[in-house]
Amino acid sequence: MQTAVIIVAAGRGSRMGGEVPKQWQMLAGKPVLAHTLAAFAGMRVVLVIHPDDRERALALGTDALLVDGGATRDASVQAGLRALEGTQVEAVLIHDGARPLVSRALIERLGAALQSHDGAAPALVVSDALWRGAGGLVSGTVDRAGLFRAQTPQAFRLAPILAAHRSHPGGAADDVEVARAAGLDVAIVDGEETNLKLTYPGDFARAEAILKGREMDVRLGNGYDVHAFCEGDHVWLCGVKVPHGKGLLGHSDADVGMHALTDAIYGALAEGDIGRHFPPSDPQWKGAASHIFLAHAIGLARSRGYELGNCDVTLVCERPKIGPHALAMQAELARIMGVDEGRVSVKATTSERLGFTGREEGIAALATAVLVKT
Ligand code: MG
Repeated sequence: MQTAVIIVAAGRGSRMGGEVPKQWQMLAGKPVLAHTLAAFAGMRVVLVIHPDDRERALALGTDALLVDGGATRDASVQAGLRALEGTQVEAVLIHDGARPLVSRALIERLGAALQSHDGAAPALVVSDALWRGAGGLVSGTVDRAGLFRAQTPQAFRLAPILAAHRSHPGGAADDVEVARAAGLDVAIVDGEETNLKLTYPGDFARAEAILKGREMDVRLGNGYDVHAFCEGDHVWLCGVKVPHGKGLLGHSDADVGMHALTDAIYGALAEGDIGRHFPPSDPQWKGAASHIFLAHAIGLARSRGYELGNCDVTLVCERPKIGPHALAMQAELARIMGVDEGRVSVKATTSERLGFTGREEGIAALATAVLVKT
């Protein structure tokens, strides 16, 4: 379903104070609307503006279609809808310009709900008690059961919502009201506390705090491990059993590649190494399968809000040959960590017969891991 976004930004914003309408005021160094537009990056956008704001809108450098709004919100929404009439667009998200923090996840929830409903809109359950008040005194309470706080974007099929607007007498609080007046069914999807509408001056400080919290937090770690060869007929490398004329000596299964990767993740978290979490002095880890260590490290990362960006493991040995097993190793590491294989790299090198790896006394492994706060 081809979807477009109508951002309604033609209002003059009387509650905020100041000369400049709120959607044009600065938030974290950019106009509010620049943030709102960024939330819909890559989508087709109609930006409905006040005619006096055309210079400001052009200065945003946006490729959104600029449309002049009307005297009321209804009129502005209709101007946006008419601009899409006769195009390939089948569905539309109608959004308040003063809600700059809408997430991609929320936009996707709306798209999913619109598959089976005429409309879909985000809302939050009312959890506070509700009062009526008069003259500074509580004059009554309101039952909050079944009450929601409505947000935008509100999603509809284009033709029915345009028809609904044309037949509506005006004065609706939002587009859901217009849709329902025309008999359309509107699904409620989960809204977000962070999808706040900038209404009062204090809202800007809150929005800036939320934006700051979303700044990229990227962590890098490295790991290095060595295990010596011993008698045996196979080695475990990156979770794959590889036949070989020798084994690897170690307290656990001696999976040198997985150990290096596990240490890289612990390193990114500033959490020491495998030995801190699984002490070799503890007999319960004797002969342990190394996937326990790797799963623990990635689980610790997730518990702190990090996800694996990517990782890269290099095995250093003359033999066994790694190439025939590299894809299986990549798949196994990805499976253990619960990530796409495209985020996992396993490669190998020899050391040109130099040093302990060159003399085939053992295998060394290096790993790098990047964790990203989600
Ligand atoms: Mg080790």
